[in-house]
Amino acid sequence: MERIAIYPGSFDPLTYGHLNIIERGRLLFDKLIVAVAHNTAKKTFFDFEERLQILREVLKDIDKVEVDGFEGLLVEYAEKKKASVILRGIRTVSDFEYEFQMALANKMLNPSLETVFMMTDARYSYLSSTLIKEIVRFGGSVSSMVPPLVEEKLKEKFRKILQEDNR
Ligand code: ADP
Repeated sequence: MERIAIYPGSFDPLTYGHLNIIERGRLLFDKLIVAVAHNTAKKTFFDFEERLQILREVLKDIDKVEVDGFEGLLVEYAEKKKASVILRGIRTVSDFEYEFQMALANKMLNPSLETVFMMTDARYSYLSSTLIKEIVRFGGSVSSMVPPLVEEKLKEKFRKILQEDNR
């Protein structure tokens, strides 16, 4: 049987930290579905379509990796995709608390679905999507933190916001 894992997240935006988890995670499974969450309650910088489009472009040549979007309960999406594993990344102790709670809740909803955690690569342990947005907002370079396409899209979007504010 094919072993399918899902790596869900907001990816707002995708960082080299996420990419590292994807690159390492895909080697453990037959297929890794990177699933962008369409969460209407959570306000994101890039809308759902933009995040999906960025991931599709950046991950298009990576073997065994598929990009998709999902809405609603992750366990239901996993069942639909015939996935047996949820992959998540951990950076800090504070990540752990939230991830632990989510993993237990998902386990209760579907006991056959396992959550697998992968430790961040030390090089990316400080990286977060929030930090990256702050740096770009104040004009800093994030070229060592995100793929070129992501940096380009971030700058473009901030430029647009500034123009609208100045009107
Ligand atoms: P969510 O809103 O679901 O937490 P994120 O896009 O913030 O979505 O993160 C998706 C997953 O990637 C989470 O498991 C998160 O802990 C992990 N992650 C985020 N940044 C890093 C990083 N720098 N190194 C390793 N894992 C990371």
